[in-house]
Amino acid sequence: MPELPDITVYVESLAAKLRGDRLERIRVLNPFVLRTAQPPAADVEGRDVAGVERLGKRVVIALDGERFVVIHLMIAGRLKWLAAGAKPPAGRGALATIAFGGGTLVLTEAGTKRRASIHLVSGREALEAMDPGGVDPMRCDAATFAGRLAAENHTLKRSLTNPRLFSGIGNAYADEILHFARLSPIALTHRLAPADAERLHAATRAVVREWTQRLRAEAAAHGGWPDKVTAFRPEMAVHGRYGQPCPVCGSPVQRIVHADNETNYCARCQTGGRLLADRALSTLLKRSWPRHIDDLDAG
Ligand SMILES: [Zn+2]
Repeated sequence: MPELPDITVYVESLAAKLRGDRLERIRVLNPFVLRTAQPPAADVEGRDVAGVERLGKRVVIALDGERFVVIHLMIAGRLKWLAAGAKPPAGRGALATIAFGGGTLVLTEAGTKRRASIHLVSGREALEAMDPGGVDPMRCDAATFAGRLAAENHTLKRSLTNPRLFSGIGNAYADEILHFARLSPIALTHRLAPADAERLHAATRAVVREWTQRLRAEAAAHGGWPDKVTAFRPEMAVHGRYGQPCPVCGSPVQRIVHADNETNYCARCQTGGRLLADRALSTLLKRSWPRHIDDLDAG
């Protein structure tokens, strides 16, 4: 799922393309993608672009008269930019196109599940009602960050990725942030020492800043558009790198398998060597489950 760094670069790139432009036409190619009936598409067509914003993990195109096009990419949704006159790419997966004077924005979604969505919204109040309420980790101080963490007693991984607590952090960057902070993904927020919460705040900012800069540079090198948005990147420390060496200590990256994703971590850097088992797996394996990274190395 595109997260804070990806969405930020989409927003910046789109803002640069749409400056001074006007929304001409919305074409919905898959009826499921447009989730609102009011206002109708005709009401937002012909309006000047006022700006491009981020709302959690959504990209928002603001138009004059407080009309908004809210795009949620979910997991497999992506945005493509076609300069005016460019031929649309062959292949399926295009759910909608939004034409502007200078080019066309294409919403695509890989796979067969239709989760990506577009909402047309009238009025800033209605837009704000769509905000899950998480704080922007790049704009909040350490005390606010710690306060959000303490709001509920959950694992660090779950709290970091809760959009009601923090804005824009998902599975991939939570793994990277926790590795950077050298904290266990299953540590409980209510047991977190103040110094650890402070380190997690600093790690969040460092990881998001570094990746935003990297993705921004990548987009700049590709015609000012992020064409390769993915949650799996070889430069990541642990996310999606199960079994590969941790870039800090060289130990193999571990995983906890969940229903539809997994948590990756380094046992030596984050859990004092302890291997974490998800409940289902540890019940299944019982005694054969290695408890410590040293047992794994020995085995
Ligand atoms: Zn490590």
